[in-house]
Amino acid sequence: MQLSPHFSLAEFTITSSGIPNVPTEEHLPRLIETARRMEEVRALFGRPITVTSAYRSPDVNKAVGGVPTSAHALGYAVDFHVSGLQDLDAAKAIRDSQIAFDQLIYEKGRCVHISFDPRLRRQVLRQPGGPGSRVYTGLTP
Ligand SMILES: [Zn+2]
Repeated sequence: MQLSPHFSLAEFTITSSGIPNVPTEEHLPRLIETARRMEEVRALFGRPITVTSAYRSPDVNKAVGGVPTSAHALGYAVDFHVSGLQDLDAAKAIRDSQIAFDQLIYEKGRCVHISFDPRLRRQVLRQPGGPGSRVYTGLTP
């Protein structure tokens, strides 16, 4: 099933946990909206996007140690790479664009995280120390 022209449900439910990752009826429309917003990110670069994690079902979220209010568990967040670009450069380009988002996090050595919670606060953050470590404002020290 396609969620949008360039993003499929399979990509948005990818998980390395080995646990079934099926969205609820409540979350599926939200994933479609998140995919629509990710089309704007793809259009900014004109390059393919590789999704490493998007939706996390309650069971998957628990297995990866996520909090229940995680934007991934709510269907709002996508972790990704832009083909041919460093994650930091991709994050800077999104920050400097007109794209609406709630949080943009450069997770050093892992991915770019973007979320589209309706608050759309446009917070730009970095997490240099890996999962669970401190998050700082801005993309560079
Ligand atoms: Zn994430």
